[in-house]
Amino acid sequence: MYPTESTGIRVYHRCGGCGKKQEFINSGKFRVNANGKSVDVWLIYRCKKCKHSWNLTVYERTKPCKIPADLFEAFEANDMETAFEYGRNIDFLKKNNAELK
Ligand SMILES: [Zn+2]
Repeated sequence: MYPTESTGIRVYHRCGGCGKKQEFINSGKFRVNANGKSVDVWLIYRCKKCKHSWNLTVYERTKPCKIPADLFEAFEANDMETAFEYGRNIDFLKKNNAELK
């Protein structure tokens, strides 16, 4: 299943693996790093060519109480629907310097 079919948005970014701009695909997986009172959450995209990963910031050094519990659970469960919601979120993508087509 190609997430581009689910979101209709193609995401391009300079790939550290290929060394040039490539299309990146929403992996549907989140990475959560809870460190004491602060939480970081990323959504992982992968280069379509070489699978090099690119972490897009969802939450950065955020107090756990600021993240809705059901949303946090969705991150930890790698909920695909939630991942695609972010994949359709233009503000989120632009904040991460994604080039959209
Ligand atoms: Zn690549």
